[in-house]
Amino acid sequence: MSLFGSSGIRGRVFEEITLELASDIGKAVGSSYKRVLIGRDTRTSGEMFRSAIVSGILSSGAEAFDAGIVSTPTLAWGGRGFDCGLMITASHNPGEYNGVKFWNPNGLAFLKEQRDKLDDQLNRKEFEPVPWDKIGSLSGYDTAVEEHMEKILSGVGTSDIKVVVDCGGGATFNITPALLKRMGCDVVVLNGEPDGRFSARNPEPIEENLSGLIGAVKSSNADLGIAHDGDGDRMTAVDEKGRYIGGDKLLSILALNEVIDSLVVPVDASMVVDDLLPDAQIYRTRVGDVFVGEELKKRNADFGAEPSGTWIFPRHFLCPDGVYAGALLAEMVSGKKLSEMADEVPEYPQQVEGIMFDTRRREEITKGLDEKMRSIDCVELTTIDGWRLQFEEGWALVRLSGTEPKVRIKVEAREPNTVDDIYRTIHSITEEVLR
Ligand code: MG
Repeated sequence: MSLFGSSGIRGRVFEEITLELASDIGKAVGSSYKRVLIGRDTRTSGEMFRSAIVSGILSSGAEAFDAGIVSTPTLAWGGRGFDCGLMITASHNPGEYNGVKFWNPNGLAFLKEQRDKLDDQLNRKEFEPVPWDKIGSLSGYDTAVEEHMEKILSGVGTSDIKVVVDCGGGATFNITPALLKRMGCDVVVLNGEPDGRFSARNPEPIEENLSGLIGAVKSSNADLGIAHDGDGDRMTAVDEKGRYIGGDKLLSILALNEVIDSLVVPVDASMVVDDLLPDAQIYRTRVGDVFVGEELKKRNADFGAEPSGTWIFPRHFLCPDGVYAGALLAEMVSGKKLSEMADEVPEYPQQVEGIMFDTRRREEITKGLDEKMRSIDCVELTTIDGWRLQFEEGWALVRLSGTEPKVRIKVEAREPNTVDDIYRTIHSITEEVLR
C-alpha cells in the first residue's frame, strides 16, 4: 500500500501517522540521504514526530540538522545545501493531522522514483541500524528564516502599504510579518502566535475561514490582507474593500504579473487565464502542486499555480512559496489597488457538483465514464486527471475523488446558458453510468 499522497505522507496523529512510522521514515531517509535538514510547523505533535524522525535518521548513520519551527518554503530553501529536506506538517489540514513533505535541494518535492523507493522501504521495514560508533549526530540550524527572508528581499521591491497578515497560528508567524516590515509595510498581525491547535481559525486559507482577516482589513483601513495555511506554502488575499481574493481570481492576477510565454496550472483551473493570456502556452497537469512543480521544471515555464492558493515562481525557487507570494503581492499593491486588479479579471460562471458513488464499483464506473466521455463531441478531451472536455465556449471536468467516494463534476463557460447546457449533458451521462 502506498503511504504517499500527492504532497507526501499525511494522516491523523497516532492513527495513520504513528511514532513507529515517523521513526521508520527517519530510518528510510537516513539510509539514502546523508545530510538531512528537518523542520516543522506549529502542530502540537510536531516536536514529538521530529524526535522520532531524528532518532530514525541517526540510527541509520546520517546527520540531522534541525531548523526548528519554519514555514515549508523556508525549509525547502534551507534544504538547498543538504541532501534533502523534511518538513513535518499537514499543511492546511486541521491540528489533529500531521505528516511529512519531502524536498530535493532544488526545491522540487520528491519525484516518483524517490517516493516509490521510500514507500518500498516503509513497507518492507528491513532497516539495519549502524554499529554504535557510526550513529549520526543532530545539530541545530537556526539561520533558515533569515536566509529565506534575504532570498525574498533580493527578489521583491519595497512597499509602503498597510497590510494585515493572518498567520492562523501556523509556521509563518516568524517570517511573513517581519519580512513585510523590512519591505517598508505598515503591518498588522493577526493570529501571529504559534498555535498548534489552530484555535483561532481552520488553517485552510479559504473565504469561510477568513472572516477575522476580512474584518481586520476593513476596521484598520488596510490596503491588503494576506492569509497563510499552517505551513505557509499557500497564500490567499483580501482586497482593501474587504473582499476575499483567492482561487482563480488571484491565480489570474499573479499570472498576469509573471507570465511572459508559458504557464502551468492543474486541469481544474479556470479558462479565464486562457482568455487573459491568449498568446501564452498553458500546460495543464494533474491536480496537486507536486505535479505543477514537476511540469514547470520540465517545460521551463514562467509560473505555476493552483487555485488552492499554491503559487510557484521559478524565477525565485521551485517550491511553492506563500511567503514570497505575499511579499510580491504587497509590492504589486503599492502600485495599484488590489480591488482594481481583481475587477479587471473576468469571472466566468461555474457549476460544481459531487455525486456519491459506491467505491466497490470504482473500476466499472471508471470504464463506463471513459466510454461515455469519449463519445461526447468536443474540441479536445484530455485524460491527465479524470476527463477534461474542452468545448468552444467552455469546459467540463469529471474526476473520481481519491479522498472521498465522490465523482466530482466541474463546468465553466463564458455564458451562464452554456454552463447549463454543458452541465446538463455531463451530469446526465454521469448519472447514467452510476446507476
Ligand atoms: Mg500548505
